[in-house]
Amino acid sequence: MRKINRRKFLYCSAAVLSSAMPFCSFWPFAGTDSEASGSVDIRGRIFKGGAPAKLWKWSHEGFFYTKLKDNKVVCGICPNRCILAPGDLSVCRSKVNIGGTLYSLTYGNPCSLHVDPIEKKPLFHFKPRTTAFSIATTGCNFRCLNCQNWEISQVKPHQVRHYELFPRDVVVKAQSAGAKSIAYTYSEPTTFFEYMIDIARIAREEGIYNLWISNGYINRKPLLELCKVLDAANVNLKSYSDAIYRKLNGGRLEPVLNTFKTLREQGVHFEMTNLVVPGYVDDPDMVKKMCGWILDNLGTDYPLHFLRFFPKYKLDRLAPTPVSTLTRFRKLAMQEGIRYVYVGNVPGHEGNNTYCHNCGKLLVERKGYLIPTYNLVGNKCKFCNSIIPGVWA
Ligand code: SF4
Repeated sequence: MRKINRRKFLYCSAAVLSSAMPFCSFWPFAGTDSEASGSVDIRGRIFKGGAPAKLWKWSHEGFFYTKLKDNKVVCGICPNRCILAPGDLSVCRSKVNIGGTLYSLTYGNPCSLHVDPIEKKPLFHFKPRTTAFSIATTGCNFRCLNCQNWEISQVKPHQVRHYELFPRDVVVKAQSAGAKSIAYTYSEPTTFFEYMIDIARIAREEGIYNLWISNGYINRKPLLELCKVLDAANVNLKSYSDAIYRKLNGGRLEPVLNTFKTLREQGVHFEMTNLVVPGYVDDPDMVKKMCGWILDNLGTDYPLHFLRFFPKYKLDRLAPTPVSTLTRFRKLAMQEGIRYVYVGNVPGHEGNNTYCHNCGKLLVERKGYLIPTYNLVGNKCKFCNSIIPGVWA
């Protein structure tokens, strides 16, 4: 990794961010000597007591980028393939070009940490009844009009409070919380790829599972690298229409479909989530086509979750998805041949539960994130001995 001297890094960062964020009222040091006022991070917060070494820890050279002419760089992590001239901030707002080197601004700086039941991800067929230490930084490579976490996904790193937590610290925290896994989640973890993979490598050595909760908008090379340490994923298949992807999410469909194929090829357990947004993603014909693609390319066994939409962000005037639509889509997907189809965000719906694809008996009853009934023995149905897809024990 190429290193630059701290003073140069600060100077460049100040120049970049003060021009990129002129509205920032607490940007204190552009054009000043940062050491004179204590140590200052690259988002403009003042650190008490001064700790210059921290400044370097907060910058990390990006992975999978290429240098171009005139000190430009192109990031190869996701299909946006941002081309950044010196001083440019990326589409995901997480990366910056300083003097011809791409830096991640979010490495070691999570803004959200929680211990969640794994069912919340949602992952229903992977280590049920365990908890996931869940972590996010700011940033996303999409612009979903209905984003549920826009307060962290659609902002720049300096605009929210952060923890300072380096990869080994994250693993230690997960261990002390008794979590079986670490989930990279809430915003878009692909945009903090460098941080995620460094944590994941240590977690793998320590016997902690790695969960990727993502929009699936990632290029093949970084995904293959991630798959080496990934145990499970929930990937959002936001619709089965490229036009809707462009309009609703600011992305494209095909790269996401490729992600599913790669996960399958690499033997990673994954589940699919489809948020049913009224007026955008509630066409039964599209759902039928989506199921057809899943069956042709992935088979019958990967769980599919239809989630209820609630008004949020720029779609705050839409009504929630009618429960009848979700029930209908679940039935349709099962009739098409997908064996495990769920309904999410509707407490008490029978689509919260898992039923054996062979004998139809109740295997896992879910009440919120609690599991009062559990009828699997290892990875088999207790009643008919059929193998249930997933990683259960
Ligand atoms: S990860 Fe961020 S910087 Fe890299 S290509 Fe995607 S949007 Fe651009």
